[in-house]
Order: sequence, then structure tokens, then C-alpha cells
Amino acid sequence: MIRVDEAIDKILSHTKPLGFEKVSILYGLGRVIAEDVGAPRDLPPYDNSGMDGYAVRFEDVKNASKTNPVRLEVIEDLRAGFFSEKTVQKDQAIRIMTGAPIPKGADTVVPVEETDRENGFVNILRAGFKGEYIRRVGEDIRRGNMVISAGDILRPSEIGMLASMGRSFVSVYQRPTVAILCTGEELVDVGENLDGAKIVSSNSYTLAAQVKECGAIPIQLGIARDRKDEIKEKILQGLWADVFISSAGVSVGDYDFVRDVLKELGVELIFWRVAMKPGKPVAFWMFKGKPIFSLPGNPVSSMVTFEQFVRPALLKMMGHRQLFRPIIEAILKEDIRKEPGKRHFVRAVVSYEKEGYFATTTGAQGSGILSSMLKANGLIIIPEDCEVVRAGEKVKVQLLERNS
Ligand code: AMP
Ligand code: MG
Repeated sequence: MIRVDEAIDKILSHTKPLGFEKVSILYGLGRVIAEDVGAPRDLPPYDNSGMDGYAVRFEDVKNASKTNPVRLEVIEDLRAGFFSEKTVQKDQAIRIMTGAPIPKGADTVVPVEETDRENGFVNILRAGFKGEYIRRVGEDIRRGNMVISAGDILRPSEIGMLASMGRSFVSVYQRPTVAILCTGEELVDVGENLDGAKIVSSNSYTLAAQVKECGAIPIQLGIARDRKDEIKEKILQGLWADVFISSAGVSVGDYDFVRDVLKELGVELIFWRVAMKPGKPVAFWMFKGKPIFSLPGNPVSSMVTFEQFVRPALLKMMGHRQLFRPIIEAILKEDIRKEPGKRHFVRAVVSYEKEGYFATTTGAQGSGILSSMLKANGLIIIPEDCEVVRAGEKVKVQLLERNS
């Protein structure tokens, strides 16, 4: 049995980022960019008005006030999207809309609210300062500067910036395909006949959803009964994917054949059994550079081991820098007792109250109690050697809902 940290280290030392692919920028959402993007032009590309108002020479209006308005001749109405051909001369103004380029001769914009229009003239009722309401060329981005770096996650803001930079396609890390096989004589798919002690293979869907949530591509291989030939056939199909996950049949039951079959196929075992609860029987293997995870069958064990081991590996393969969920400190609201030796992941609800975060457990922690995962938004991490944590003490909680 190895420790959780050792298991994660071993997994990450065996996984590496996949290659790159070009996608149109909108399809890059949530993906990790694989190139540095520099600015081919200044943004904004020219000095422009930050207000609807009048482009003026500050010299002309510097003494303007409500009681002492300054009257200027309006020589043009300028919309956004057009350069003016005129130059603002002494005692002249150009009516200007937000985003329109500042005309020659003008050095200040007076907002329309500070003016009074009178046919071909405008009264300026307040002088601001020289340069007011002018958005300067390059004040957002300077030409040649790096705006997005390889390894950044493409969020809506990055996607908008790529568009601003004139990019319609972008290079991103590929997403792994992840084959998921559920094993168990008792399992049927949703909608199939449940007679004769059958249960629905919920892990087929939970795991596929977890894979999707990471941004990877699930491939549902369905169910193999606890028969070596059936398991072998499905595993051979699954090995075409970038990552293979099996669920159940990996413990010490008489019909737990997953490990036997993987061994027969010449797959290299990296570890089996981790000092954790839930999830102890988890195994990790490598086959021709591909990671293989054998997760335990109990629904909560399957989810928790996916979170701790599979998710970081998939994120690494997709080029992410931040591989782990955020961990916060919270004050425990009840006592938790456990045997020393294993790291416990306790389903919990964390909430922010006046003095900080507080955590309560979701009740019964049996590894088959999937409903307790529904209530949870975090996992309290109780260290290996710890035997009791009391109400009022601080605990670490891994948040399950927020992405890094
Ligand atoms: P095993 O790891 O094969 O010993 O299975 C442990 C427990 O998890 C058993 O109670 C199984 O019925 C249950 N189980 C196994 N596979 C699944 C699955 N795909 N969906 C839901 N429960 C499962
Ligand atoms: Mg079984």
C-alpha cells in the first residue's frame, strides 16, 4: 500500500501533455492554449473618444463654467468608425461619438452632459483637464507585447482578446479520449431489465461525466460481466483510447478479474492499493505510454479516486498548469474520528459564514452512498496519522465545485 501523495507523484511522472491542434477560437473555450500570442497592432489602434461629446482644444475651453460658458462653432458630426478630414481650429469643436477617432487639432473631449447645443454652435459649461476622455492608442495593448502565453486557459476574456488581435484560429492542447469500462456480473445499463439482483451501472455515467467535466472526451465501452474473456475483449477495445479506466473488480473478491486480465495483456503495474478511504483498491498501470486506471466499484470510491488520481492526469495531458482542486481551511462543526493509517476523504458541505469557512459532513460515509456525494461540495481531508478532529478545529477541504 502506498500513500496518496506517492500515488499522485507516480501518476504524474508517467503522464505528459498530448499534442496540439488548431481550433476556431470559440471552440477554444476552456482549453489550454499551446502558443504565445503577441499583439500585431496597438489596441485601441488610434486615440479615440471615451464619451459622447465634443472634441475641443483645451486652450479654448479651460475657463468654461456654467456662469461663463464658452461658445464654439460645431464644424462636423463624427461617428465611430470614421476618421475626420477636418482640423479643429481656434473656437471650433467637432461633435464626437464614443469610439470615434480624435480629430486633428483637438486634445480634449467634453461630455455632452456638460454642454448646451445651439444650432451650429455649442456652449461648453465645464472645463475638465487637458486630454480628458481621450482613450490613448495602445493603452490596452501595445503592439508587439505578449497578450496570452502558452499554458493559459482560454476563458471568454482570452477569446475576445484573440478576436481583437485578428486571430480566428488558435493552437490548443489536444483532449484525451478516455475509454470507460464497468465490470460486474450484477450490472445492467439504464433502461435494461433489473430482474435477478441486477443494479444499474451508475459508474458508467458518473465517470463519463467526470471525464467530460475535466474537458476530456469519454468513450463508454459499456459493461463487461465478471468473465475474463469478456473483460479482455473490452479492454482491447479500450486500449485504442488515450487513457483507459476500468471500474470495479479490482479488489480481492473471488470474481475480481481486472488485474489478472491486465497482467495477462502485459500491462505494467505501477501501483495497487493506496492508503486512503474510500478508494483503497485503486490500481494504476502503463501500457505503451498510455495510463490505465483501475478504480474500485463502489460509487463513491470510484468518484473520489477519479478526483484524486485521474483528474490531475487528464489535466496534465491537456496542458494545464494547475492540476489540483483548490484546498481551503474550514472550521469543523462536528467531531470526526478514524483509525490511523489511511487518508480519509470525508464528504462535506462547506459554506462561508461570518468568520470564515465552516464544514459539516454529509452524514453516513459508506462508500456505496452516492446520495452523500450529491449533497457535498467538498471533501474534508483527514491526514493519515490523525485519529480525531474535534468540532471547532481547522480542517483542510478540497473544493469539488470550483475549477482551478
Ligand atoms: P467491486 O469493486 O466489484 O467489489 O464492487 C464494489 C461495489 O460496487 C459492489 O457493491 C458493486 O455492485 C458496486 N458497483 C460495481 N460497479 C458498479 C457500477 N458500475 N455502478 C454502480 N455500482 C457498482
Ligand atoms: Mg464486482
